[in-house]
Amino acid sequence: MESKIWLSSPHMSGKEQSYVNNAFETNWIAPLGPHVNGFESDIQNYLKQDTQVAALSSGTSAIHLGLILLNVGLGDEVICQSKTFSASANPIAYQGATPIFVDSEKDTWNICPEQLEIAIKDRISKGKKPKAIISVHLYGMPYKVDEVHKIAKAYSIPVLEDSAEALGSTYKSIKCGTFGDISILSFNGNKIITTSGGGALVTKDIKIKEKAVFLATQARDKAVEYLHSSIGYNYRLSNVLAGIGRGQMEVLDDRVAARRANYEHYKNSFRNIEEIKFVDEPEGYYSNRWLSCILTPSEEIREGIRTSLDALNIETRPLWKPMHQQPVFKDAPKYLNGVSDDLFKKGLCLPSGSNLTDIELNRVTSAIKTYFRA
Ligand SMILES: *Cc1c(COP(=O)(O)O)cnc(C)c1O
Repeated sequence: MESKIWLSSPHMSGKEQSYVNNAFETNWIAPLGPHVNGFESDIQNYLKQDTQVAALSSGTSAIHLGLILLNVGLGDEVICQSKTFSASANPIAYQGATPIFVDSEKDTWNICPEQLEIAIKDRISKGKKPKAIISVHLYGMPYKVDEVHKIAKAYSIPVLEDSAEALGSTYKSIKCGTFGDISILSFNGNKIITTSGGGALVTKDIKIKEKAVFLATQARDKAVEYLHSSIGYNYRLSNVLAGIGRGQMEVLDDRVAARRANYEHYKNSFRNIEEIKFVDEPEGYYSNRWLSCILTPSEEIREGIRTSLDALNIETRPLWKPMHQQPVFKDAPKYLNGVSDDLFKKGLCLPSGSNLTDIELNRVTSAIKTYFRA
């Protein structure tokens, strides 16, 4: 059996090790420490737009704190893009709030502005205005930022921008991760850069950042003894992991270029297979192509490709199963147009790591060509 080709595996550059060694040499092994602050400034300098960054233990914890900071609580409703990873929606439940799932549109596969407005109006008519909107740049493709934020503004609902998959993507030349009232990033092992596990909350308001850090470090009031007037969390990123992140930030642009090159490789290789479709970048959209995805004609063909690649030790995965189809969220209200269900049936994520070799990419493309006998 040939060696395993993973969907998206961590890709260290070698630069991480010296930051980690420095953490050991200076004994900054505890959470907090100079790499945490350094990593935050690295991200701020990268994102620009006067962002303030709080480095946290995961993207999920960043979404959770984001919802708390947007005052989401028991009994509230929060609109969430249905086509996403469960971590976008789970923190709504942590707060005792109800997710309201909204379908996707075909151009970017992200939250559909028309369905969004229908959902907002309907929730208001039923007596509750949604407390926040969670929109996601899926697979690195920016969502329709202007349209979504215009609607959010018209109804004065804050946007929590889930940019976990989109570090390095831009919309009209502005970096994703800077559009939300609160935005989040993830540095999980499968993301475009990784700290092994980690995340960040991004805001333009220094007070929000300070509150996020306060809540993430057990909500200790200013006092000599341990004094608490609110419920805290243990959500801060460790200094060792932030060291990995500092090394990864040095190579982020290379990682984006490599992932985009994977996408171009696939697109070029399958140009004569009319059954395979891609989602192109609309004008002004720039995707980091975190994962390269294809659309096939049917669920049967998608499964045919997936199982034949699996037999060759090549990992692929169907697109995210929409949240409104998940057993755990079966009772949540939903506003659907059929797009995310259709994408789920026909879509497949191909191996997309920035460390894939040409030989590995060719193994993937020739396996798919063989499937179609093209
Ligand atoms: C990975 C991911 C998250 C969660 O990030 P973690 O760091 O794994 O907690 C949230 N939303 C989306 C869309 C993701 O892909």
